[in-house]
Amino acid sequence: MRIGIPKEIKDQEYRVGATPAGVKALVTAGHDVIVETSAASRIGFSDENYLAAGANIAQSAKAVYDADLIIKVKEPQPTEFPYLKEGQILFCYLHLAPAPDLTHALLQNKVIGIAYETITDAHGTLPLLTPMSEVAGRISIQAGATALQMEHGGNGTLLGGVPGVPPGKVLILGGGIVGTNAAKMAIGLGADVTLLDINATRLRYLDDIFGSRLKTAYSDPHTIETLAQEADIIIGSILLPGKKAPKLLTRKIIASMKQGSVLVDVAIDQGGCAETSRPTTHTNPTYIEEGVVHYCVTNMPGAVARTSNFALTHATLPYALQIAGKGYQKAFTDNPGFLNGLNVHFGKITHPAVASDLNSPF
Ligand code: NAD
Repeated sequence: MRIGIPKEIKDQEYRVGATPAGVKALVTAGHDVIVETSAASRIGFSDENYLAAGANIAQSAKAVYDADLIIKVKEPQPTEFPYLKEGQILFCYLHLAPAPDLTHALLQNKVIGIAYETITDAHGTLPLLTPMSEVAGRISIQAGATALQMEHGGNGTLLGGVPGVPPGKVLILGGGIVGTNAAKMAIGLGADVTLLDINATRLRYLDDIFGSRLKTAYSDPHTIETLAQEADIIIGSILLPGKKAPKLLTRKIIASMKQGSVLVDVAIDQGGCAETSRPTTHTNPTYIEEGVVHYCVTNMPGAVARTSNFALTHATLPYALQIAGKGYQKAFTDNPGFLNGLNVHFGKITHPAVASDLNSPF
């Protein structure tokens, strides 16, 4: 199969669809791989590295998009829409539920859109979201701690405190992959950490692994409202797969938080869990609303693109090899969890959660 790997053009997105090692595996399996020039030079993968792995280098995105299978990281940006073509397989993060324009472009161009974030494994977990959620969860505390500093509009709390001065308070909404990794980092820094979830089994598990270093509570509106008022940082890390994130943090709750406290809304790629959240970029990551510093970057792992890229390719490559090797239909038949990744197919939305959020027939 002809496989194209374009350079990412989202703001400060330096990750790329596959590392040279990933490309080598695809070439060894008999596929033609074409990589856009300088696609990953910022993270230390040169054109020479890709040539050595057996790829061809293209000078333009247009040439790369001539391929049958496009492997990339983030959803296509508007300037990429004209390159999409009927029957082309697009394998990347899509996050369509909060993105009607992108969805329309994919439907109009009749592409086969397989979204990393809705593929499931035998345990019902999300194997292609997990590695980037691990990264985002860890970054969320770094980002939150930085935003708490005075020069960023924060309230000037040092998360770990110092002897004689209590630590800052971190409230984590959602104890999945992002939330657990955020908890690890926040606890490591010595913060006072509370995590909420609606899944009692998950709370039990987290209580077992973190012991008394983590407070857990069942997530309900009253508890969220009460704990939000005390928090220095809230991490928004909830997920209902494929669906828009519910607005657990109303404007009223945000307004009740301490001046200069911080919301890191990691769930912003699914629309965000606060009424006051709107997407930001690595170039301008924060804004202040209701006195609260909001960090809502939709591609957080891009900040540590080299680490992220290795982790991402380790997760995506086995699936890319299946699509290219036996065709997507056979790959879906053999692995129903893989089929859950199919979001759009020849002009139709094929994922129930995406369809219901976009009020579209399924
Ligand atoms: P996950 O499925 O592992 O965890 C989500 C958790 O939220 C689950 O434990 C679930 O029980 C819990 N939850 C659902 N509703 C809740 C509620 N009302 N209150 C409290 N908890 C609730 O998901 P994840 O991999 O941790 O991802 C979390 C979010 O982070 C997703 O939206 C994902 O797309 C996003 N994400 C964003 C970035 C970024 O760059 N911004 C990067 C990676 C992941």
